[in-house]
Amino acid sequence: MPDIAIVGSGPAGYYAAEAAQKIWGDAARIDIIDRLPVPYGLIRSGVAPDHQSIKAVARRYEATALSGNVRFCGHVDIGRDIAIGDLAQCYDAVVLATGAPGDRPLAIPGDQAGNVFGSAAFVGWYNGHPDFAALDPDLSGGTAVVIGMGNVALDVARILAKTRAEFAGSDIVAHALDRIDAGRLDRIVILGRRGPHQIMMTPKELGELAHLTRAIPRVDPADLPPADDDAMLEPGQRKSVVQLRAFTENHGRNEPGRIPIDFVFCAAPHAIEPGPDGKVTAMEVEETRIDQGRPIGTGVIRRIPASLVISCIGYRTTPIPDVPFDDRAGRFANVDGFISPGLYCVGWARRGPSGTIGTNRPDGYAVVERIAADLSDAAARGALPARSGRAGFDALARARGLDVIGFDDWKRIESAETDRARADAPREKFVVIGDMIAARS
Ligand code: NAP
Repeated sequence: MPDIAIVGSGPAGYYAAEAAQKIWGDAARIDIIDRLPVPYGLIRSGVAPDHQSIKAVARRYEATALSGNVRFCGHVDIGRDIAIGDLAQCYDAVVLATGAPGDRPLAIPGDQAGNVFGSAAFVGWYNGHPDFAALDPDLSGGTAVVIGMGNVALDVARILAKTRAEFAGSDIVAHALDRIDAGRLDRIVILGRRGPHQIMMTPKELGELAHLTRAIPRVDPADLPPADDDAMLEPGQRKSVVQLRAFTENHGRNEPGRIPIDFVFCAAPHAIEPGPDGKVTAMEVEETRIDQGRPIGTGVIRRIPASLVISCIGYRTTPIPDVPFDDRAGRFANVDGFISPGLYCVGWARRGPSGTIGTNRPDGYAVVERIAADLSDAAARGALPARSGRAGFDALARARGLDVIGFDDWKRIESAETDRARADAPREKFVVIGDMIAARS
């Protein structure tokens, strides 16, 4: 009857819980702990608000959450409220599924200028994450430079370009909807340090740019390699490049009231120029050439006027005191999910910020199978220490005065969010932790 704690209630956490149920059935007691009073991590705060079909996977996690042997323990910050060592005393295994909620730093001169944000912050702002609700980006005019050519960059460019009507059915929070609707950006630049063949964008997500009411995606045909060269690409990547080729038809096209979304390739971030008010006025980039897929700086610096910069260049796991951390990779130091006896990690906290939501399923299963093997091995050796289990965790929480939010509480918060939704939205999220907690009663 293992007691398992999973820290983090996003996809990696819930797939790990699902795997534990599969292995031990009702025999395991699984506590899913989250620092927020609300579950689902990246599904709630990372997946784009206009991608509701992706968010629907939360229903599967709810089925796991509602099984008798699984608990949700929200509003508990492991590392701050309860040390990892204390948590480990309660459970046979602790699984860190904390994702990668921090931004990989841009680390160029001027990156602290005003109106320069990382995608964790900016995506968190429009998704109502309490940490970023007060971000206050200025979208009142000029050029937004979106750095990076992955799917997050596409999400950010698309969200910036959408009209109020195009957000129908989404759960974008009101503060972001109003600001984006009132925004008057003239241009959006998506900046890549490598070339069209090296983009990390997937074809379906790229294709969405072609259907925006007030934006036109544009690619300069001179930036594309000869079409025959696409044959060497793997099929998915080839489809993405075909999509870029379709955007060349818009090259030079300008329509009043429509925002160009320009792809700028082979341009590595070099510096950000702040104006007298401290806000960004321009982005300096160094032109690159591609050598065996790698960007090599040419020393040629160009200036792109910019009023807003959003860097979508990847994420980092937040370290937890006393947990070994691989600072270069930005995730917990681990071998196939094993950190140290009794301590494991899954998902982005294990492998870094890559893959789709579904990638976390086999990842969670593999790590939980490893835990099962380690536990049976320890039991066979008589080396499995007695743990205090849930009772131990509850005693710790009481002793620290923690206000633990359960799954029933979450269901009441969810119902309050549904009740206050706009007519065309599934929910209006609470963006302040105190308001979430108040809504549970
Ligand atoms: P990503 O796919 O790894 O893309 C990161 C981009 O940032 C790359 O173009 C990379 O360029 C660039 N970059 C990194 N460091 C840079 C630097 N110092 N200067 C300039 N550019 C830099 O990461 P992501 O977009 O954050 O997405 C994370 C994961 O979530 C991905 O697996 C993604 O597919 C997934 N995701 C999926 C969806 C969806 O399916 N709808 C939506 C959002 C995210 P290089 O290639 O040159 O390193």
